Amino acid sequence: MRIAVFLERDGVLNNPGSRVAPRTARDFEVNHDLIEPLGILKGAEFLLIATTNQPGVCRGDIPRSELDMMHLRLHRELPLDDIMVCPHEENVNCPCRKPNPGLFQEAAFKWHIELDRSYIISDKWQDAEAARQVGCVSLLLDSPNCGSGHHDYLLPDVESAFERIVLIEQKQPMLAEF
Ligand SMILES: [Zn+2]
Repeated sequence: MRIAVFLERDGVLNNPGSRVAPRTARDFEVNHDLIEPLGILKGAEFLLIATTNQPGVCRGDIPRSELDMMHLRLHRELPLDDIMVCPHEENVNCPCRKPNPGLFQEAAFKWHIELDRSYIISDKWQDAEAARQVGCVSLLLDSPNCGSGHHDYLLPDVESAFERIVLIEQKQPMLAEF
């Protein structure tokens, strides 16, 4: 069993600070500040998995080819193990649209992840709620989208979230070594 760090895509891994999801690969800006800290987590044997709701795919606003190009770049430019997408519209009521926990459960099945030892980093309340449902530690980044619901930690930025994971892990003997 592995431990994962799940990362929300929009606003965390790409287009930091933007409240609008990019529709084309040209508008997609990978957050290169994360290359080094993600590399450290990967070196400590964490799985690194991006998750994202992209209802624009089923709505027809985002061509699948653009999404594929965005994710090719994410894979090339950041040391991610996987990118999990819910392409469905809100009214479909699918199990994978966050705050539903389907993407995390699917990842856990695929990668043999111990969810109750894993972490979810996001600037949105939907991920914190999904974390509650699957038992992950929720590291919520302060933003206009973080709501007032469940979270384990409220942090100013993604760097603080990485530091918090290191602190938590250092208190757990026989696990990842930093
Ligand atoms: Zn879905």
